[in-house]
Parts: sequence; C-alpha cells; structure tokens
Amino acid sequence: MATVLKGSEVAHAFDAEIIDKSKSLRTKGIDPTLAILRVGGREDDISYEKGVARRAEKVGVSIRNVVLPADVEQSALVQAIESLNADTSVHGVLMFRPLPGHIDENLVRNVLVPTKDIDGITDLVLASVFTGTGVGYAPCTAAACMEILDHYDIDPKGKKAVVVGRSLVVGKPVAMMLLSRNATVTIAHSRTEGLSSVTRDADIVIACVGKAKMLGASYFSAGQIVIDVGINVDEGDTLVGDVDFTAVKSIVGAITPVPGGVGTVTTGVLVKHVVDAAIKTLGQ
Ligand code: NAP
Repeated sequence: MATVLKGSEVAHAFDAEIIDKSKSLRTKGIDPTLAILRVGGREDDISYEKGVARRAEKVGVSIRNVVLPADVEQSALVQAIESLNADTSVHGVLMFRPLPGHIDENLVRNVLVPTKDIDGITDLVLASVFTGTGVGYAPCTAAACMEILDHYDIDPKGKKAVVVGRSLVVGKPVAMMLLSRNATVTIAHSRTEGLSSVTRDADIVIACVGKAKMLGASYFSAGQIVIDVGINVDEGDTLVGDVDFTAVKSIVGAITPVPGGVGTVTTGVLVKHVVDAAIKTLGQ
C-alpha cells in the first residue's frame, strides 16, 4: 500500500518558518501584504480567495482585496495593476485567471512588475524558471509539487519523471523545475501516443491533466511516486484528482491525495512567496 503524501504535513512544516519571518518583518515596520485582484465573481475564484485569506491570516500575511466588475475596461484593469506596482505597502499580487474574454490576458498579465509576481504569471518570471536566473517566483502549484518531493526526501536526481500536461501554469514549469534538479523529464500531453506505457516506465509521475480519475491502474507500476495536481469534480459531485486514487494506491509507492495534497501546499507556497518578496524590499 502506498505512502500517502499529505499536503497538510508539508504546509505545516514550513508554516513555522513563514510565521517567524513575518514576525521579524513586523519588528522592522513591514507588514507583508498580498493584493488579490479579482475581476468578476466566479465561484472558483471566490472559494480560492477564501482559502488564501485563511492561510494568510494563520501566518501573519495581510490581504488587500481589489475587486473589479466583470465588464471592466482593459485600461482600468491595467491602471489597477499599475497602482499595485507602485504601492510600496503591497509585496505580492495574485490575479485570478482566466480574465473575461474582452481582456487581452497576455498584455495585462505582463503589466505586473516581476518583483511582485509571486505566482509566476509574467513572461519574465516564466522565462526565469527556464533560465534559472531567479527573477520573481515560480508558479505556486509547480513549486508546491517540488516542496512535496523535498519534504518527503524524494530526490528527483537521475530519476525518470513524466509530467502529464503542458500548461504554462503547471506542466511546463514543473517539468523545468524537475530538469533543474537533474531528473530525466518527459512531457506528455493529449497527443502523446501510448500514454500508459510512458507513465508506467517513470519513477515519478506528475499528473496535471484536468480530467477526473483519467489515470487508472493501467497507467502505473510498483514503487512509483505519484503527484496528482488535478482538481476535478466527478460524476457523483465529489472532488477528485486526475488519478484514480483508490485503484492506484495499492500499486504505487507513494501518492498525494485529492483533496489534501498539492492544493493544500499551493496556498502555503503563495504566502511564503509574499513573505520572501517583502524580505527582499528590506535591502532596497
Ligand atoms: P490545462 O491548461 O487545461 O492543461 C491540461 C493539460 O492536460 C494540457 O496540456 C493537455 O494537453 C493535457 N491533456 C488533456 N487531456 C489529455 C489526455 N487525454 N492525455 C494526456 N494529456 C491530456 O489545465 P491546467 O491549468 O494545467 O490544470 C490541470 C489540472 O490541475 C486541473 O484539474 C486544475 O484544476 C488543476 N490545478 C490544480 C492546482 C492546485 O493548486 N492543486 C492549481 C492549478 C491547476 P494539450 O496541451 O495537448 O491540450
């Protein structure tokens, strides 16, 4: 039976460090602050916003909510980001996406200054994930996958890692992060042929597909490490991952649950990035 890699254990382990850092910032007159920029009122965004607020409160990070109407003009959204860029009391900005269809998302996301890009949404920060030049902060979900591996002493070095999914939010950045840690990385996607034999051959499988329980027992082999990024609702309205946890846990060596896995660590990484961004302002 697989070891269950619990997100709460990972997040708990670095909470203490974040609390210490935010306390120390306050003694220096800095209140680490995350601005959450939401356009419209999508249920998913609001529920994530609440989760982030709970986490932030726990570790001493303040939240500034900026809410704009769904029909906001692009120029007004750009202005809102520019004013957060200029506001020295804000250390990180989380902007929910997708943005409404009338907004040029590629243009708007790149208005954010890289120093406040705590979720790797700008091209400059994403490029840095590829070049390793340390600008800004990698996308939190990708970073959360690496935190889980590190917490459980799973060294990717020399291992065969297969990432199923190639989005800019998770798949591509986590593949680069695994590569930078000396894994031999394969990126699979919807056109990959013989996916089950590709995943079966891996030591580490990162599933970021967005399809409920798509990866069943036939995709896995004994001893593998499985990180399930997927957050989906199945036909019974239950929250499930991309991996069929019940069928797979008796085969592999270790697996993250959904819920209670990567998602739990992601909000922890987000607030950690805010505190680190605030610390960087000390030297300025
Ligand atoms: P996305 O942008 O829709 O990307 C999905 C990827 O999966 C694409 O690259 C797609 O390939 C690939 N794919 C789709 N069907 C496939 C198939 N049958 N076989 C192989 N690959 C297939 O999704 P995302 O934003 O990366 O999110 C993926 C999942 O992670 C979602 O469930 C999302 O809710 C979850 N998520 C979780 C967190 C968290 O904190 N835990 C954060 C973000 C996202 P193509 O490129 O060929 O289309």
